[in-house]
Amino acid sequence: MSVAEQKLTYLTAAGRFDICSPGECIRLLPVALDTFRASQEALAGSQDPNVRTVIAPYISYNRRTGGCGRMLKMLLHGTCSYDCAYCPVRLQREPVSFPPGEFADTFLRLWRDGLVEGLFLSSGIPRDVDCVMHDLVETGELLRRQGYDGYLHLKVLPGATRADIHDAARVADRISINLEATSPDRLGGIAGVKDYRQDILKRQAWVAEEKPGSHTTQLVVGAADETDAEILSCLADQYRRVRPSRVYFSAFRALPGTPLASHPDTPAWRARRWYQADYLLREYGVTADELRVALDEEGFFSNCDPKVALADGRRPVNVNFAPRRDLLRIPGIGPKGADRILSCRRERLFTGLADLGRAGIKGRVAGRYLTFGGRETVQAELVL
Ligand code: SF4
Repeated sequence: MSVAEQKLTYLTAAGRFDICSPGECIRLLPVALDTFRASQEALAGSQDPNVRTVIAPYISYNRRTGGCGRMLKMLLHGTCSYDCAYCPVRLQREPVSFPPGEFADTFLRLWRDGLVEGLFLSSGIPRDVDCVMHDLVETGELLRRQGYDGYLHLKVLPGATRADIHDAARVADRISINLEATSPDRLGGIAGVKDYRQDILKRQAWVAEEKPGSHTTQLVVGAADETDAEILSCLADQYRRVRPSRVYFSAFRALPGTPLASHPDTPAWRARRWYQADYLLREYGVTADELRVALDEEGFFSNCDPKVALADGRRPVNVNFAPRRDLLRIPGIGPKGADRILSCRRERLFTGLADLGRAGIKGRVAGRYLTFGGRETVQAELVL
């Protein structure tokens, strides 16, 4: 394996801990990197012995425009002088990195061959943060200057300057800075070097100003032993202050050799429940106070869809008169379904479960949370 191949293999593997797509699926990129002779046939499982079949993992993600895209996700520098207790990059002693020019050339060959169509670029911090941010921005600028017009996501490093964040936002489609934990105390327990307020929250406010509505963040769920109640407070604060377009949830995995090697893993379902709860906050107008009802006494969600948990604790709503806000809180009814119900019932009231099909709603899921009938039924329900 050539040096470039080794670097790409290591740096893409190290980049997998940064989440940039929920439920992202990691696949292996078959590519003859030594000659950069690669082709779509290679992806289709070519038998050509000159094409090596395992070099770099990429992630398969859902494009906004439909279908699956291939995004290379990697670190520019694979060593780090920081001390995040959950992170394997800090264990790497031998310097492994791509100078911006070398990486830009490498990526452009993969992109021009049609093997990847997007790039998520982050980095360890082996030296001064400013130098590493300059490398990330320079890489983005080189790519753009050489004709790359695909998706580019650049990670903003903790402690980055305002000027570097501005430059990253100018060159990238999306930028992000990871919270990792829910509060200064929680972060202090797993990452002593980063200052939560100064290095992360202050920079995140700049990120939000530079890329309003197009920045993201990530939480490592369970690494710092935070409760779901703490995550909920953290998210409420995020959506009030900086409005990230997405929050990604990474279930903590104990990695050998790290200080948290004996810490219990976070079950995958906990991160999945957080994606569901976050969706309710972002898209359904559910408030953090409402969601708190679904927490147990110790401040944790159970392994149950939070929308179902909320609906189970409420009285059924009359599908013929409930406002959109209440319809949206019914399992099985999303924003489009709620709008269809509002439209259909203007023509004719719903009379029973089978009738819900008119609005494209499956009565099997939503039915147990709904009542039917006219205004007199609503009055009767109110009196009860
Ligand atoms: S800053 Fe922390 S999480 Fe990021 S690469 Fe360095 S040790 Fe890992």
